[in-house]
Amino acid sequence: MKKFILPIIAITLMTTACNSKKDANLTAGIQLANLDTTVSPKVDFYQFACGGWMKNNPLTGEYSRFGSFDKLAENNRKQLRGLIEEIASKTADKGTVEQKIGDVYNMAMDSTKLNADSYKPIEAELKKIGEVKSTTDILKLMPELVLSGLDPYFSIYVGADPMNSSLNIVQTYQSGISLGQRDYYLENDAHTKEIRDKYKEHIVKMFALVGFTPAQAQKNMEAVMAIETRLATAAYDKVKLRDPHANYNKMTVADLGKLVPELNWNEYLNSLGLKDVKDINASQKESLVEVGKIISTEPIPSQIAYLQWKLIDESAAYLSDKIYAENFDFYGKILSGKKEQSPRWKRAVGTVDGVLGEAVGQMYVKKYFPAEAKERMLKLVHNLQKSLGERINALTWMGDSTKVKANEKLKSFIIKIGYPDKWRDYSKLEITKDSYYANVKRASKFETEYRYAKAGKKVDKSEWQMTPQTVNAYYDPSTNEICFPAGILQYPFFDMTADDAFNYGAIGVVIGHEMTHGFDDQGCQFDKEGNLKNWWTAADKKNFDARAKVMANYFDSIVVAPGVHGNGKFTLGENIADHGGLQISFQAFKNATKANPLVVNDGFTPEQRFFLAYANVWAGNVRPEEILKRTKSDPHSLGKWRVDGALPHIQNWYDAFGIKAGDKMFVPVEKRVSIW
Ligand SMILES: [Zn+2]
Repeated sequence: MKKFILPIIAITLMTTACNSKKDANLTAGIQLANLDTTVSPKVDFYQFACGGWMKNNPLTGEYSRFGSFDKLAENNRKQLRGLIEEIASKTADKGTVEQKIGDVYNMAMDSTKLNADSYKPIEAELKKIGEVKSTTDILKLMPELVLSGLDPYFSIYVGADPMNSSLNIVQTYQSGISLGQRDYYLENDAHTKEIRDKYKEHIVKMFALVGFTPAQAQKNMEAVMAIETRLATAAYDKVKLRDPHANYNKMTVADLGKLVPELNWNEYLNSLGLKDVKDINASQKESLVEVGKIISTEPIPSQIAYLQWKLIDESAAYLSDKIYAENFDFYGKILSGKKEQSPRWKRAVGTVDGVLGEAVGQMYVKKYFPAEAKERMLKLVHNLQKSLGERINALTWMGDSTKVKANEKLKSFIIKIGYPDKWRDYSKLEITKDSYYANVKRASKFETEYRYAKAGKKVDKSEWQMTPQTVNAYYDPSTNEICFPAGILQYPFFDMTADDAFNYGAIGVVIGHEMTHGFDDQGCQFDKEGNLKNWWTAADKKNFDARAKVMANYFDSIVVAPGVHGNGKFTLGENIADHGGLQISFQAFKNATKANPLVVNDGFTPEQRFFLAYANVWAGNVRPEEILKRTKSDPHSLGKWRVDGALPHIQNWYDAFGIKAGDKMFVPVEKRVSIW
């Protein structure tokens, strides 16, 4: 939510990164079949570097986007399936983690029971919501819904206080709209309007599928839309959500009671198990004020429909095939352009992974994460750290006092690689054979209570926010940590058999990307301890902002679909991170191979291979619907623009491919971004 989890960056370990001794056994790592040599790199670098990959990996019906990143994730899923199915095929003692993994998986796979049960697993809850008579009843019922995994109206979470990063505090966050992004409710272009119309039809169909008459279903839909549109209107937009100061509104619970008097906050928090809360960060306070008004003014039958919708919408993936299919028709087909559902086993693996992530992760790393990988990865990270330090010291636009602070922050990074030192304990999670949905609901409660129990406690900086099998990486500004799970330390990010040009171009840039998040437009507002505290001189910050603005304007100008531009401010942090990652890793690559430079291999110079490896991480195909969806919701630029938008700002890339003024990819020096 407030983390900068980047769905696209990864990291891995590097082979001989720092030792420049030439190893004759190392390959170039570049797969020539990925290229499209009918196109010049000077005209369209992405097509040149990835055109072969795109042709050889056409989109199948179950995907709205499929890239080399997704291909790796697909492989991980198969590995997890092997581990899980072996467990699920045997009988295990009650209460063991094996019993829990096996039962969740087997119930997800049991289509006969799922279809026979239909919507019965949620029937009692639907009825309970339907019996609500007053605002007081609603407020009494809400904590129960929240603990079971729903987020009606707004959500409550526990996380580090942005101004006092060693302490966990209770915080609110805007929520409660099923389309996720407020734009869907407010914008009036033809595509958005069509999505909205189809969403309305979807709500009506879903109510009918869980036993409502057509007339009731229609009426409920209208109530849901009215409430969600009010929530969307009051919500911060996606650019404002990226401003840490605008989203910091810490106050006493007593003051929150004055601001949003419709809720009895002490009582509400107590019911959630959050006892003796004194301070709370009402992240988007104006949105919360509107929530209070909605709860006190919308008619009770409308609010019943809204709460029932939250339940239906959230549980649809765990009910009968008919209900699942309608859910997929809207979220998969209409919203993303997918053609067909994923096979049942993939969904089942996904649920087990979500419910018992670290239990599965423990088995995964034992089997698939080589012991030497952690050590090698650390070496690579340290080389990148050194290179970023060199670059900071050489900056012409930053004064000495800020440089000292930047270096301190760089040296304070907490580095996490592979898997956590201690594992989650799932002994209190109850998994039985009543229903697939009931298990997921208990797991949500287990997870929510686990997180809520941290309120008022010291932040545990050793905790991981991703499971080790995840194909991804992240930077967290509140702990100043970079994390690279085992799942991402594989081709196309990392290849033990490939040379430095490949590994610095792929995983090296990913490491540099995560490091740069500590210095992007958001991250740079947090100090080395993770506090939202300025460490810049006014002049240096002004210089930084001016340079970041060049980046935002550049990505604003990119046309991502007919008539649709990128959103430079929304994607600014990720684009700065890509830019920094490329600069830092290229320098580390040159440092590492200085004594024994690499030679031409597979027809490409080492510098060319560095950039080809980078581009290949982002090779992929994507449907037009998904492009529009991501432009609304994804802070990362599309794969094509992470290549064709990022590289024209890197001088070493021009040098590597001999790109000059007059070439289509050429951007004049004065228009290029220069930050880290
Ligand atoms: Zn990122």
